[in-house]
Amino acid sequence: MRRVVVLGSTGSVGVSTLDLFDKAEAEVEVLALTGGCNAERLAEQARRWRPSLVVIADEAHYGDLKARLQGSGVEVAAGADAVRDAAAMGADWAMSAIVGSAGLAPTLAAARTGAVVALANKESLVCAGPALLRTAKAAGGVVIPVDSEHSAIFQVLQPGNQVARLILTASGGPFRTWTREQMAEATPGQAVAHPNWSMGAKISVDSATMMNKGLEMIEASYLFDTAGDRIDVLVHPQSVIHSLVEYADGSTLAQLGPPDMRAPIAYAFGWPHRIAWPAPQLDLAAIGQLTFEAPDAARFPAIDLARAALKAGGGAPAAMNAANEVAVAAFLDRQIGFLDIATIVAETLDSLNGGGGELRHGADEDALESAMLVDRSARRVASDVIERRRS
Ligand code: NAD
Ligand code: MG
Repeated sequence: MRRVVVLGSTGSVGVSTLDLFDKAEAEVEVLALTGGCNAERLAEQARRWRPSLVVIADEAHYGDLKARLQGSGVEVAAGADAVRDAAAMGADWAMSAIVGSAGLAPTLAAARTGAVVALANKESLVCAGPALLRTAKAAGGVVIPVDSEHSAIFQVLQPGNQVARLILTASGGPFRTWTREQMAEATPGQAVAHPNWSMGAKISVDSATMMNKGLEMIEASYLFDTAGDRIDVLVHPQSVIHSLVEYADGSTLAQLGPPDMRAPIAYAFGWPHRIAWPAPQLDLAAIGQLTFEAPDAARFPAIDLARAALKAGGGAPAAMNAANEVAVAAFLDRQIGFLDIATIVAETLDSLNGGGGELRHGADEDALESAMLVDRSARRVASDVIERRRS
């Protein structure tokens, strides 16, 4: 029986995690479930999984959640601190599936307990990757990637063998074949309609701008201790090859599977073994062809923005991530156009570099505080940039 917590249980990855537990008939004791604002789904999950604690991050929904769980015996709490407490309950395995930098503090809290941290929340690595990995290691724990590309690389990395390149595959998103003129008119509805994966709104927009691949490049650099100039992006519209590792002898290993997040979640749950579950099977004959293209940096500038932020180091990735979160939210709210997202991120980074100082943080002991400081100031700047553009 493994003691688990699922942070962000009401989201796309969270729901897939609980579904995997069901399908795999996993022997788990769920200590805690946390959600953002969907009290109805969280209450439903709590009644099914009987955790000792459920937490809703948005305090406005506390009363609703409490009422729904009346008489259930499940303890109910609300707020960011309570989410962090849930993460720190001492589980053997913690799924980190909150979206955005809001996931950093709870993910660090879970890492501090020495749990196996199954990491979907890529933004926490982008904000404070080295500190998060050091924290997990110091506590005797480990971070196992859930992002499908990083899970693939993790699965085919052979320790001790010299790696030439990590190759992250990308579907290219819903606008892979669109011109810039077409993208300028793209609506939130079109941006979140991903061709292969069903995901939360934020990551779906990131896939459309390809900022998702930029964030993943930074994620891979930290996870696998590899410089950005040895990480390439390869567009592969079928999303069957989840990523590749090229070794110094010219041999390349890849991991394949149907596009289903339950597969990397199952790997992270089973690690260091593989668990059996009724997984959808890969039918290559039915798929027929796997195709590949180089990414188009002119149409998708976010990839180069991320590459530059990774190279700049310090707080630049955290600032880029924060600006992107603000810009994506503004796009989903129809305040800005699709192409403005990358422009706002670029302008925010320019303006912060000009301002100096704030992009250089990251000592171990105050990693969380300094990352959140960078996060907050980049959010302010990005909001100002948006205001200026709208007025
Ligand atoms: P989602 O929006 O569907 O779910 C996010 C979860 O976080 C929900 O439970 C939500 O209620 C919760 N949440 C939101 N804001 C919060 C806050 N401020 N405090 C606490 N909880 C909050 O997102 P998702 O698609 O499941 O993605 C989750 C993470 O996993 C993201 O970092 C994403 O990049 C990553 N990821 C997702 C997929 C995928 O297929 N969906 C694939 C790879 C990586
Ligand atoms: Mg991914």
